[in-house]
Amino acid sequence: MLHMEWLFKLLQLPKSFSFSSDGGGVVHGTTPTTAVDPLLTLSDIAKRFHMWTHVDAAYIGSACICLEFRHFLDGVEGANSFSFNPHKWFLTTLDCCCLWVKNRIDLTKALSNDPQLLKNKASDTKKVVDYKDWQVALSRRFRAMKLWMVIRSYGITGLQEVIRKHVKLAKHFEALLCADKKFEVSVPRNFATVCFKVSPLALANMVNDSSDEDSNRLTKSLLESLNGSGLVYMTHVVIEGVYVIRVAISATLTEEKHVSMLWDMVQEHASNLLAKFTNIK
Ligand SMILES: *Cc1c(COP(=O)(O)O)cnc(C)c1O
Repeated sequence: MLHMEWLFKLLQLPKSFSFSSDGGGVVHGTTPTTAVDPLLTLSDIAKRFHMWTHVDAAYIGSACICLEFRHFLDGVEGANSFSFNPHKWFLTTLDCCCLWVKNRIDLTKALSNDPQLLKNKASDTKKVVDYKDWQVALSRRFRAMKLWMVIRSYGITGLQEVIRKHVKLAKHFEALLCADKKFEVSVPRNFATVCFKVSPLALANMVNDSSDEDSNRLTKSLLESLNGSGLVYMTHVVIEGVYVIRVAISATLTEEKHVSMLWDMVQEHASNLLAKFTNIK
């Protein structure tokens, strides 16, 4: 996790943003754990320093189709731009990223070019929006079509149902982990991503001389063992020296039976590794 101490001081950010004072995390580092920065505070500070505020809601933007998650975007009205990736959790195939800008002139002033060969009546009379002026390249694939198809097929209610189903499955998985002393949920779960590790406390109860490093090593082995099965795939993150497994539930066809299968596998693979661990120690 990157802590930009100099930026923190330059912007005179509230203490809660500083890692050195046990605060949260601004600027970088929220993606792996799906933590959300407080937009209201940040956009106020940005305004004071005439800074551009971009809200990168790549993952959680999708969840905000449900009213119960909207509060994560409180303060978004202060942003200059906002983006989210329908290819992450909005049932749309890779790649598709939606970008909204409050004032498109800011963008086109920087990126437009107007060579004679591209001149035409529709552009000159402002009958069309020229997206060539919104980016560096002139050409662009027509990604809006696949997103439009998803929205037309599922509708708002259908998409909300999918998001809620995934969050419910993640909550269920989190509850299973919490009820099992072998594991520890490492960071609070906000959406449908659960971060967990092999509990250092559980290891300490098994052998006399266990360390946090043992928990890291076993968690890493557990992930490699699970992914090696070819049946599930998860990623990891190291948060301030702690290795954790990330379980992200976001695929279109994921159902309860898949999460149950994952839980059985986690149990089996972890038990094998822990048995080996106690034998070696
Ligand atoms: C996934 C993610 C990204 C990366 O998005 P790409 O469009 O795939 O490069 C950026 N920011 C956040 C917050 C993300 O969750």
